Amino acid sequence: MYVTTYAYLVILGILGYVSGYKSYEGYQVLRVVPDSLNEIGILRKFILQYKLDVWKESTGLGSPTDIMISPNDIDLIRLLEEAHLSSSILIDDVDGLIALSRDYARFREYSELNTSRFYNVSEIHEWLEEVAVVCGASCQIIDIGTSYEGRPLKVIKISRDGEQRRRIWLDGGIHAREWLTPAVMTYFVDKLINEDGVDPEVTELRDAFDWYIHPVVNPDGYDYSWTTDRMWRKTRSPNPGDCVGTDPNRNFDFMWGIGSNDTCSQVYQGPSAESESEISSYTDFMTTIGDSVDLSISYHTYGEILVLPWAYSTVEPPDIADLERLATICVNAVNANSTLVYEFGQITGTEGGLSMDWSKGVANIKYSYIMEMRGGGTYGFLAPPSEIVPTSLENWAGVVAMAKDLMQRK
Ligand SMILES: [Zn+2]
Repeated sequence: MYVTTYAYLVILGILGYVSGYKSYEGYQVLRVVPDSLNEIGILRKFILQYKLDVWKESTGLGSPTDIMISPNDIDLIRLLEEAHLSSSILIDDVDGLIALSRDYARFREYSELNTSRFYNVSEIHEWLEEVAVVCGASCQIIDIGTSYEGRPLKVIKISRDGEQRRRIWLDGGIHAREWLTPAVMTYFVDKLINEDGVDPEVTELRDAFDWYIHPVVNPDGYDYSWTTDRMWRKTRSPNPGDCVGTDPNRNFDFMWGIGSNDTCSQVYQGPSAESESEISSYTDFMTTIGDSVDLSISYHTYGEILVLPWAYSTVEPPDIADLERLATICVNAVNANSTLVYEFGQITGTEGGLSMDWSKGVANIKYSYIMEMRGGGTYGFLAPPSEIVPTSLENWAGVVAMAKDLMQRK
C-alpha cells in the first residue's frame, strides 16, 4: 500500500509539475559588467532591442548586470564583445537548475515550518492560519483583498494585547520567481511567534512593535511559477494582445507613468496606476496604518544590496543621512552573520511606481527600503532550498538591528 501510494504521488508529481512546465532548454544567464556610462547606455539598448529578461540590474559602474538569453540571442555575445563590454556566463544551463528546484517542489508533505523545501502559496496561507492559532489573541490574519484570480491577500499582524505600538512592515513575493522571499517571510513569522518568551531579543521586539508581514504579495504569479513557468515575474491579469501580467513593483501610484508601456516587458507598468488588485489592496491597507509605521522593507532577490529611495530619480531624499545611517546598521548586522558581503545604495536607473517610493512618498514611512537578498552564489533566482536558512538568518539579523536602533530612538 505504501509503495502504491508513493508511486502514485510520484506519478502525480511528474504529471502535475514536470510535464507542461515551460522549458528553458538552451537558455543561459550572462553577467555583463559595464565600466562606463557609455557602456551602460549600450547595454540598455541591447536589453530593449532583444527584449532581454534582466535578472539583476547594475547598481553602478563596475556592478554587474545579469541577463537571461535564449538560444536565439546567441549573436548577442559577439555584439557585446564588439562593443567592448566584458561578459561571462553566470548560468550555463537554466533548465538544469529549474529541474533541480522542481525535484524538491514535488514532495507535498506538510508539517511545522519546514525550511528544507519551498512552500507553494496555499501551503503558506494554510501555515499562516495554523501559526496564528498557536499565537492566539495577539496575532491576527488580515485579508486585505483578493488577487486577480481570486486568491486571498493575507497579512499577519503579530502584536501583544493592550495598546497599539509603533509598527514594522515587511513583505515578500511581489515578484513571483523570487522564491526565497516568501520563504524568508515565513521564517520571520515563525521566529516572532515561536521564539517569543524563548529568545529575549524576540520578546523585546514583540514588546516594542506591532509587526505586519505580507509573505506573498503576488500569489497568482507565485502559483504560476510553481505550476507552469518557473521564471514568471509579473501578475496574471490579462492585457490586450498575447502577453499576460503587469510588474506589480512598477504599478504603485507614485511617479507611475515613467515605466514601460510594452505589455510584453517584464517591467510593464500596467494600464494605469494601481490597476492590479494586489497593489490597490496593499496601498488601501497601508494607508490605514502608514502613519504609525516606522520601517518598511520589501524583500526581493537578488543582488545582496539594501536599496534606498528614490528609485524614480537619482535625487536623494532630504533625510538621506538618516536612511544611510540605518542602512549601515542593517548591512553591518547582515554581513556579521553571512559569508557574503551586502552593500547599500540607490539603483542607477530611474524607475517609477515602486513600492519603496510609494511607502516613503505617499504613506510617509520615513525608513522605506527594498532588500535584494542573495542569489546563492551562481543560482540567480533558482536558489535551492539549502539557501533558505542562511538567507533568513542573515536578513533576520539585519531587521533586528534596525528595529533595536529605532526602539532606542523612540
Ligand atoms: Zn524583485
